[in-house]
Amino acid sequence: MKSYKVVEFGKPLQRVEEATPAPQGTQVLVKITAAGVCHSDIHLWEGFFDMGGGNKVSTEKTMNPPRTMGHEIVGEVVALGSEAKGAKIGDKAIVYPWIGCGKCWYCAQGREHLCPTPQALGINKDGGFADHVLVPDAKYLYPYGTLPTELACLYACSGITAFSAVKKAVGEDAGKPILVIGAGGVGLMGVRFAKSVLGREPIVADIDSNKRKLALENGAVAAIDPREKESRKTILDLTGGTGVGAAIDFVGAESSAQFGLRSIGRGGRLIIVGLFGGTFSMPMPMFAFTGCQIVGSVTGSPSEMSEMMALVSSGKVTPVPIVTRTLDEADATLQDLRKGLVMGRAVLVP
Ligand SMILES: [Zn+2]
Ligand SMILES: [Zn+2]
Repeated sequence: MKSYKVVEFGKPLQRVEEATPAPQGTQVLVKITAAGVCHSDIHLWEGFFDMGGGNKVSTEKTMNPPRTMGHEIVGEVVALGSEAKGAKIGDKAIVYPWIGCGKCWYCAQGREHLCPTPQALGINKDGGFADHVLVPDAKYLYPYGTLPTELACLYACSGITAFSAVKKAVGEDAGKPILVIGAGGVGLMGVRFAKSVLGREPIVADIDSNKRKLALENGAVAAIDPREKESRKTILDLTGGTGVGAAIDFVGAESSAQFGLRSIGRGGRLIIVGLFGGTFSMPMPMFAFTGCQIVGSVTGSPSEMSEMMALVSSGKVTPVPIVTRTLDEADATLQDLRKGLVMGRAVLVP
């Protein structure tokens, strides 16, 4: 099999040819037909996440290179271990990559994505920048009906991440306008889910005029530049003077989180999803003055994956723009994404 691996952090991905693995026990071998390139792959490849204030958290232990990245995988079952159940040769499926240890409290609750000792594909284990991937159990395979292959893979990370974040926007403020900050791959997916899950198109904030245009073309009710002086006033004008019920920060930088906090109304919720990095502070009395909530969101659970797949398979969610590249362009695609040159979501096809 062929793969593109992180061998040294921050250095070009290396093409590796090795024997295709034979699945053991409950394992399933999937021949990859498409794999998305995610923003978090940039951080994993760089070897650290920026925690702000000059602090970095290394991805060395998590990744243990050489490692094949790629956690948005779709493919076809080509071999089964002797104890594999629930799949057959030829099955086409999306692979749920947020796999846990299977033994801890979180895994027992069906919240494997929060497992403290994760076995995630493309991060802790080899993933999708390859022509084959070994999946530990067929229960992580989800059928995708008639969805196009290149679109289907995106639901494994950008899809489930956006879906779970948008679901967290439902609270006492259900019905109030919401704000999506950042119209990259995941943010655009969030725009789509806001319509289908919450029943209303969001306001979008992005510093890039091309991404604002894309957001408007993809269903945003308004697209604003958060750096503009009048941006907070614009939010108030768009929300009858009361601010948004929830702001979903798909960027996760100090500036984006601060903008989110300024945009939410009383009792509103700031949901932080993005991994840009940094740190931010706010006056403590604001919690008691406004009743605001700050919530984190990380990918989504297997049950949310089922729920989302039922929704997207019904065709009720309009697809986001996709940029298709060949697997051999894995490194170049990662670099383009890093420079912000990819409009929509990049997908590698072997
Ligand atoms: Zn991802
Ligand atoms: Zn676990």
